Amino acid sequence: MQSNQLRQKFLEYFQKNGHKIVQSSSLLPTDPSVLLTTAGMQQFSLYLEGSKDPIKDFGSRHLADVQKCFRTNDIDEVGDDTHHTLFEMLGNWSIGTDENGQYFKQGAIGYALGFLVDELGLDKEKMWATVFVGEGSIPKDTEAIGLWLENGIPQERIMECSSENNFWGPTAKTGPCGPCSEIHYDRGIEYGCGKDTCAPNCPDCKRFVEVWNLVFMQYRKDEQGQFQKLAQTNIDTGTGFERMYSKQS
Ligand SMILES: [Zn+2]
Repeated sequence: MQSNQLRQKFLEYFQKNGHKIVQSSSLLPTDPSVLLTTAGMQQFSLYLEGSKDPIKDFGSRHLADVQKCFRTNDIDEVGDDTHHTLFEMLGNWSIGTDENGQYFKQGAIGYALGFLVDELGLDKEKMWATVFVGEGSIPKDTEAIGLWLENGIPQERIMECSSENNFWGPTAKTGPCGPCSEIHYDRGIEYGCGKDTCAPNCPDCKRFVEVWNLVFMQYRKDEQGQFQKLAQTNIDTGTGFERMYSKQS
């Protein structure tokens, strides 16, 4: 498959599943909290906060795009086979779905697996899921665990991780945030450190590559550092185009 066919396949998949396709925003960000665009969600930040209406501006709460991103926070890792400073992020969003809605965690997990397995033909047996283990006032994400199980990822390939890897945001001191859940792809034992403990986020090797991060925005961190439930929950996902291309080709 040519790289452009993969971009097209991603956009067509989300379009046929009810998403409005949005153009990549400029690398010069609309979001003043960053110097350069580093993630697909930045052009949607005001919608995710609830201060702008996606129906009014895009005609849909469900959006997808291919966003050019520039990152320097992991620059020490650039030069290996999974990190770039300039890359493209494939993403899909569900903005303002309430927790009883159709497209919150269930939709995010179902669409991500559907694309990787049904559209790209990647092997589900090589996929692991990470979920938030729970910390402080925020409980373990048992809802996500249940959904991964329902979608055919067995318990032994679901890892419960701390906020270091599985809690997103807020990007400033206060704001929307929430647990996230990642799909990691097992590249095979030949990439591994050989230790019994080797698994996603292994500190000793790169056997497992994170391919998709699904963020479940369901809290707001306030000025006192407390987490309040958000009235408007959102799905914000991102998968690295170059990583995905290297998996399917
Ligand atoms: Zn390892």
